[in-house]
Amino acid sequence: QAAADSPNGPPAVELDGVTKRYGDTAAVDDVSLSVREGEFFTLVGPSGCGKTTTLRLIAGFEEPTAGTIRFSGESVAGVPPEDRDVGVVFQNYALFPHMTVGENVGYGLNFADPPEGMSRSERVAELLELVDLPDAADRDPESLSGGQQQRVAMARALAPGPDLLLLDEPMSALDAQLRERLRVQVRRIQSELGITTVYVTHDQEEALAISDRVAVMRDGTPEQIAPPRTVYREPSSRFVAEFVGDNNVFVGRVVDVEGGDVDDSAPRTAGVDVGGEILRVEVDDVIDVAPGDRLTFCVRPEYLRIGDGESRIRATVESAEFLGETTRITLDWGGRDLVVRTRDPLSGEVVVGFDPADAHMIGIGEE
Ligand code: ATP
Repeated sequence: QAAADSPNGPPAVELDGVTKRYGDTAAVDDVSLSVREGEFFTLVGPSGCGKTTTLRLIAGFEEPTAGTIRFSGESVAGVPPEDRDVGVVFQNYALFPHMTVGENVGYGLNFADPPEGMSRSERVAELLELVDLPDAADRDPESLSGGQQQRVAMARALAPGPDLLLLDEPMSALDAQLRERLRVQVRRIQSELGITTVYVTHDQEEALAISDRVAVMRDGTPEQIAPPRTVYREPSSRFVAEFVGDNNVFVGRVVDVEGGDVDDSAPRTAGVDVGGEILRVEVDDVIDVAPGDRLTFCVRPEYLRIGDGESRIRATVESAEFLGETTRITLDWGGRDLVVRTRDPLSGEVVVGFDPADAHMIGIGEE
């Protein structure tokens, strides 16, 4: 979905060495990133990693301690939020309870004129149509579900026709099923308008599902910025590998490197001693490995196969969670946890394996 047709336009929002300090804490630490026109860009990471602060800096609710933020190439330093042409939706951006849904959306228009040739009420109707609530104008906001209220909040934020939409955990107060439905709608609305969007969530699954590109943040800094597939398949660090989806991270000493010669069609592989077991992994061109190196690599659970694969590990079933389509099984391998997914239940001692090509290199010399 994302990578191939990801927007490739000029940058709409750029952060250049942006830092925000509160006392001794750098909530946002030297962040440089660029969001393209029409892109759905997500900041994801654990609590406290600086997502909300980054969004507030873009909105203009905070000014950076250092660095520059540019909209379409122009610095927005000192420009107040109301002059930035941004629409913002927060987790609990409560609607005004004493106004109807239509009045709430119309309130978003207060300081802006409706588009040429359109009355205010036509514009409100158009926005309610966009968020799939065409008949809700006269309703009381409190009579709507949480998901419907968030769509009204979105319609209100979009009313003045902003250049940029900023969404801060807009679904986190909703239950899981509703979140999944709402994220499809949010993405549809965004695509229909082609509006540049920066989205904040701590939910990595949501981030993968909804975004053109994702910035995985840690301690105030993006650790990897890439399309969802890349972040999932080629995590750039152990942190990203473990934060995004389930993963099995292995650390070991390289004992040999084979193949990959010009006259040899076999891919280059390394034998890695992990806890006394030699596991073979394919070595990419990016990371140059040599015997003696300490190598970190990962294998996604869906690539660990029961009783199969070139590298094999004997492990013991520790626990199983039935998830419907698959069962997520945690194995104990000499004190290390491994995760596999299977259709059939497993118990006792099992052999799991993987092929060299299914391992992804993370780095050399890491923990
Ligand atoms: P969460 O998902 O929990 O909202 P987050 O990734 O959005 O987390 P931020 O809210 O941006 O993180 O906070 C980043 C860091 O900055 C945290 O350590 C937080 O305590 C600190 N921080 C944020 N705002 C302020 C403030 N106004 N004053 C002092 N410290 C702050």
